[in-house]
Amino acid sequence: MTQAEIYLDSNATTPCDPRVLEAMLPFFAQIYGNPANGLHRQGRLAAQHVEEARTWVARLLGALPAEIIFTAGATESNNLAIQGLAGAAVERGRKRIVTSAVEHKSVLLPCQKLAAEGFEVIVLPVDARGIVSLDAAEEAINDATLLVSVQAANNEVGSLQPVAEISEIAHRHGAIVHCDAAQAAGKVSINIDEWGVDLLSLSAHKLYGPKGVGALYVRGGRGALPLKPLFVGGGQERGLRPGTLNVPAIVGFGKACEICLEQVDQEAMRLSTLRDDFERQLLDKAGTIRINGDRERRLPNTSSITFPGVDADALLLNVPHLMLGTGSACTSGTIEPSHVLQAMGISRQDASNTVRVSLGRFNTAEELAVAAESLAEAYHSLQQV
Ligand code: PMP
Repeated sequence: MTQAEIYLDSNATTPCDPRVLEAMLPFFAQIYGNPANGLHRQGRLAAQHVEEARTWVARLLGALPAEIIFTAGATESNNLAIQGLAGAAVERGRKRIVTSAVEHKSVLLPCQKLAAEGFEVIVLPVDARGIVSLDAAEEAINDATLLVSVQAANNEVGSLQPVAEISEIAHRHGAIVHCDAAQAAGKVSINIDEWGVDLLSLSAHKLYGPKGVGALYVRGGRGALPLKPLFVGGGQERGLRPGTLNVPAIVGFGKACEICLEQVDQEAMRLSTLRDDFERQLLDKAGTIRINGDRERRLPNTSSITFPGVDADALLLNVPHLMLGTGSACTSGTIEPSHVLQAMGISRQDASNTVRVSLGRFNTAEELAVAAESLAEAYHSLQQV
């Protein structure tokens, strides 16, 4: 008998919450106007709903609606934040960019691109828990620093970064702070003022919204920061992100934020209990496995597990009913073991023996009991090979 499939890859993407899907449906064929056309009812209605969605995204962060720029997702938001600020380097006389070794490629690669253009890019190390060293940040951030870009939470091990402390150091030196919060949003509560960041990236599909939509938070709105658009066109999103807005996706994103805002703390508690029980069961049954990262300072839904001596791909082939990640889904397809795990001092070998379990809103305790049992069984049988 084939076993029921169990989805445990919520850090790669989440399904749309049924309430999100329901909210989006009228915006394909009933309310289809272009929000830029305020001259007729269709356009005005669409614009009204986009603005309502903007309010929910802003509320999720404790920000103002005018500070939210809709984009196609966190990749675009990260690029807009980093490349969009590069033009300000000359006027500000600052050419240093500070980031961390565990960032997503959509932060690391724009930084590398700027390094090739003459910027001085400093990549902060992390400790064995995957957490950025504040001493290293203190040393790297100086009065020549234009931008500091550090993620809120890591996609692979879930480590939570000291964003507020890093913002404080950066602001002391007059630098702008960007935070990639694609993984944190919806999983832990965010308060933009407590974190003190100036720019922050979000992606809807990580929080039960649709794919292909996200946002960049810009403190003070456009004009407050020397941010240039990545491309030019119709002037939408205050000229920072021209192009006709994807209204159904934006409405879905707004609904997803509304739901997260309502239940983030409760959901975090439920998921961390499920995750911790799952880890206990797996440790009990599989014995020699290792859980990576800090047990406390990590996302409530994420578990990064090394199965010493057993290749993660082989392990997954033995549990075809479990949908899990190895390293990061965004970089899978490349043979290189995860740069995040390696930055934490985990050997290439152990990194390739590592599986990521990331829980979501629709997982149950029963599913996790099956997952622990199946993974332990597959691990034992592969150890014997
Ligand atoms: N940043 C982080 C931390 C992520 O995990 C991801 C998605 N894996 C992204 C950015 C990119 O998001 P998107 O694919 O929605 O552009």
